[in-house]
Amino acid sequence: MNYFNDIIKLLNEASDLSISYFINPEKRIYFLYLLSSIILAYYIYRGKKDTVPFWKYIFKKKVWISKSAFVDYLLFLFNSFIKIIFIGPYIFLGLYLAFYINEYLLQNFGFIEEPLSKLQTMVLYTLSLTIFNDLFSYLIHYLMHRLPFLWEFHKIHHSATSLNPLTQYRIHPIELIINNFRSILVFGLITGIFDYMSSNQINKLIFLGVNIFSFLFCVFGANLRHSHVKLSYPKILEYLFISPYQHQIHHSIRKEHHNKNLGSKLAVWDWLFGTLILSGSKKSLRFGVTDTKQKYTSFIYNLIAPFKHIFRK
Ligand SMILES: [Zn+2]
Ligand SMILES: [Zn+2]
Repeated sequence: MNYFNDIIKLLNEASDLSISYFINPEKRIYFLYLLSSIILAYYIYRGKKDTVPFWKYIFKKKVWISKSAFVDYLLFLFNSFIKIIFIGPYIFLGLYLAFYINEYLLQNFGFIEEPLSKLQTMVLYTLSLTIFNDLFSYLIHYLMHRLPFLWEFHKIHHSATSLNPLTQYRIHPIELIINNFRSILVFGLITGIFDYMSSNQINKLIFLGVNIFSFLFCVFGANLRHSHVKLSYPKILEYLFISPYQHQIHHSIRKEHHNKNLGSKLAVWDWLFGTLILSGSKKSLRFGVTDTKQKYTSFIYNLIAPFKHIFRK
């Protein structure tokens, strides 16, 4: 009986967590970001001079009620369980790490004589968090494409044959755990260093309670990265920031697009390491994986396939 109650409680927590994403400004699918994405999509739609009405263009059946989309939705819900069980209890590790780094610096270098001012801390800390998180995202994403056993897990994100904003959450639980430990690590490292450099005056540049740079990223169409809306940026900007269409290229099945545009917010890492492709003239793209004959069409298959393939190898 107790077991049963625990399961019901867990189900409730997981569904609450999934729903909360739409009203949490820290999440990419926060309703205001979805709204700004619709406005940007309208701008692209007008340029297309399409004959279908705007709402039909946005809510294409092929995109929202495809088999692939249902796998996205189920993984989005399922990953809420993973977050509650395997990630939530470890968030505090970031604070521990920050505390020990600050202590280590204090013991080895003593109190800092000229700590950063409040404003300096706010700007530099927010920038460093954003840049280092982005760099580590790039590096891990790079490894996921290059190391065969990590690729088996990352393939689940790439097995989507149509893209919608929830495809962002179509990741294997193992990748979800890796990504979360990456952010905990970067948070701990950067926070510890800045806690020391500012003499414990740490503060972040925020808007609606969110890192201002993440806010801007989300407002300027982050949701269109996983969509059929081909929004690109002016050429010069695409060397600095990954546009939605550049991420769609990342999902393309064309050989010349494989392992390209691995960046999250910034394109500079791709530029630096030779993996950048600019939007150029926009063609229609097909999405999915090509290195396997297996069909990643069911939710269960997406969950177990990586283990099966690694084990077989
Ligand atoms: Zn990828
Ligand atoms: Zn993606």
